[in-house]
Amino acid sequence: MIISMKLHATQEEIAEVKARIEEFGYKVHSIEGEQRVVIGAVGVGDVTACLESLEAMPQVERAVRISAPYKFVSREFRSAKTEIAVGNVVVGGDEFVVMAGPCSVESEKQILESAEIAARAGAKILRGGAFKPRTSPYDFQGLEEEGLKLLDKARRATGLRIITEVMSDRDVALVSEYADILQIGARNMQNFALLKNLGQCGRPILLKRGMSSTIKELLMSAEYVVAHGNPRVILCERGIRTFETATRNTCDITAVAVLNELTHLPVILDPSHATGKRSLVPALARAAVAIGSDGLLVEMHPHPEKAISDGAQSLDPKRFAQMMDDLKPYVELWKRSRLAETATAV
Ligand code: PEP
Ligand code: MN
Repeated sequence: MIISMKLHATQEEIAEVKARIEEFGYKVHSIEGEQRVVIGAVGVGDVTACLESLEAMPQVERAVRISAPYKFVSREFRSAKTEIAVGNVVVGGDEFVVMAGPCSVESEKQILESAEIAARAGAKILRGGAFKPRTSPYDFQGLEEEGLKLLDKARRATGLRIITEVMSDRDVALVSEYADILQIGARNMQNFALLKNLGQCGRPILLKRGMSSTIKELLMSAEYVVAHGNPRVILCERGIRTFETATRNTCDITAVAVLNELTHLPVILDPSHATGKRSLVPALARAAVAIGSDGLLVEMHPHPEKAISDGAQSLDPKRFAQMMDDLKPYVELWKRSRLAETATAV
């Protein structure tokens, strides 16, 4: 249930409503807006009786039953987009945020070069995997903690924030020490033990859509993280598996628009894993801006031909800078419509 308090309800009135909800056996989570407090009631109980009782309280504006099984991440729970601050960068705000870098952290030279190229072209966040989910156990598995230290060096050198993947609940504490954003990869979208662990990690999460997952399942996974105490979740469409073989995955570009309707969480697109081909990345990046994505996660490597992983889909520095330049007029339009949206979504 979601209970919307009347404008300017007092703290006592809010406390009274919370107490009534708890009497019915529900747990209470509230979001305090500038003018209005919205209370979420979760759990199992007599919904009808509870709703009737709450609606009879004068300080309650509206009490509604939520049909979607995800509550905290739904647009019904919060109509304005959630803004997630990562250092001085805000994802979900009025800047289109580009996260770029190699698939894997390979060496000090490679990640420092990548960071400089990313920063120069206007990216705000550096990506790079230190723990890599590889299909073959014989493939490069990542530099692990050494890779995290190199990312930290690159952050100090450039001021970029860093995003890197965590694959296991065992490594959440370690990766949280270094990363500004923890990436949960497609293969782990439904690793529930991992998702629960992210609740208390103190870092924003980038949750990638599983390659065979529905949008609803993605939202349910985000709900796990939020319900366990971490509301800072960014969603990422990265392509799904279909019968099509022309691209590595099939980019469900519509998912960005669908998610923007269903959830207040920021949504970004990964055009690299979605296509598997560097030549297709700039076109898809433009589409992401046009459809209202909050940013991009792009693979870029100083020397893609030498990349240990995902070289074929990684942009080289020149193509990356060109893409960033070409995106500018689209991002200008994006900003205009974003400002118009925020003005109406109060
Ligand atoms: C990655 O970002 O390098 C990655 C492994 O992505 P995904 O989990 O989407 O396959
Ligand atoms: Mn990759």
